[in-house]
Amino acid sequence: MSAIGSQLLETPERRALRQAVGDLGRRYGSTYYLAKARAGEPADELWAEAGKAGYLGVNLPAEYGGGGGGITDLAIVLEELGTAGCPLLLLIVSPAICGTVIARYGTEEQKQRWLPGLADGSRRMAFGITEPDAGSNAHRISTVARRDGEDWLLTGRKVFVSGIDHCDAVLFVARTEDARTGRLKPCLFVVPRETPGFEFRPIPMELVAPEKQFQVFLDDVRLPADALVGDEDAGLLQLFAGLNPERVLTAAFSLGLARQALGKAVEYAKTRTVWSTPIGAHQGLAHPLAQCAVEIELARLMTQKAGLLCDAGEDLAAGEAANMAKYAAGEAAARTVDQAVQTLGGNGLTQEYGLGALLAATRVGRVAPVSREMVLNFVAQHTLGLPKSY
Ligand SMILES: Cc1cc2nc3c(=O)[nH]c(=O)nc-3n(C[C@H](O)[C@H](O)[C@H](O)COP(=O)(O)OP(=O)(O)OC[C@H]3O[C@@H](n4cnc5c(N)ncnc54)[C@H](O)[C@@H]3O)c2cc1C
Repeated sequence: MSAIGSQLLETPERRALRQAVGDLGRRYGSTYYLAKARAGEPADELWAEAGKAGYLGVNLPAEYGGGGGGITDLAIVLEELGTAGCPLLLLIVSPAICGTVIARYGTEEQKQRWLPGLADGSRRMAFGITEPDAGSNAHRISTVARRDGEDWLLTGRKVFVSGIDHCDAVLFVARTEDARTGRLKPCLFVVPRETPGFEFRPIPMELVAPEKQFQVFLDDVRLPADALVGDEDAGLLQLFAGLNPERVLTAAFSLGLARQALGKAVEYAKTRTVWSTPIGAHQGLAHPLAQCAVEIELARLMTQKAGLLCDAGEDLAAGEAANMAKYAAGEAAARTVDQAVQTLGGNGLTQEYGLGALLAATRVGRVAPVSREMVLNFVAQHTLGLPKSY
């Protein structure tokens, strides 16, 4: 796509970041990414290079090795990597959720221990909130943390936790024993991957991605007192410190997929000729692609707004904007990839063009971390003031 996009509203530093990350991503491209995914291997070379260049920790505080920027910057990194064919899902989790929560609510010791590694990519942290019996209703999570002297004992089950096999630890959302039922009063624990009693098994997925999803079994996992991040009584606010960035980054993930697909479709439509003109001259193809371009651009603007609100510390307003951005980008990506596959005809499903693999990937932005139906519930209830149905 041309550069008339919303990035012209960005600072020169952010436009330079876009350019540099895009250059790095294009050196690897979808051929590298898909080969890694199909081999079941992590995209370690790209991850390491992006970490060394400071892109993975661009949002983390400079005093702990980060770039001192914000979620807006990290969203740029993921959007550009995805546009270049390398949508690194773990960016949503490791620096965006875990990095932000530890930077905002961790103790000095926790910050020293984790942030420099998360920033340069040498350490990675997964995030586990989803449970089999709770699903979209996080208030029903039943993973329980129980005091045992100075220690904590953690017991429960999680599903769909991404990338555990590539991570050093997982940030788990639990509830304390005395808050076993009722509205969620979450507390957050860092659990190193090798901790006894912590088991994880891959869930066979139809996604073509280097990151696998896992089901997790926590069976009286013994943790030291300082595994707790933040206050056990702080409630939802410290969790939302991580969830708003997660939604903004998921929007950026979807935008990357959408722009990658649109780029490939436009390129193809300009050159492929089966009658007397390139297929892109037919309005039956040109208009849907133009519509996708409009929808992508609108979703990018909303994502920028949500990122800026996050970075301004406006958590409540950021929550609304981040939900809207995630929804808009997810819808734009699903429609754009569908239209791109159609534009390429049979080649839309060949491995050579790498578009078929995006069909399943775009579903992620519609389902996770919060489904589009739950975003619409949120907007209906909180933005419009309509009664709640569930
Ligand atoms: C690729 C992938 C990666 C993921 N990575 C992680 C991760 O790293 N960590 C993690 O914790 N989780 C992760 N998840 C889980 C993800 O956040 C959940 O799948 C999501 O929150 C939805 O929960 P669920 O799958 O249980 O669906 P359910 O809650 O069972 O929902 C099923 C359907 O019912 C609809 N529905 C439910 N309630 C309502 C309602 N009140 N009104 C209208 N519709 C409703 C939903 O919108 C959805 O369409 C990942 C998921 C995927 C697919």
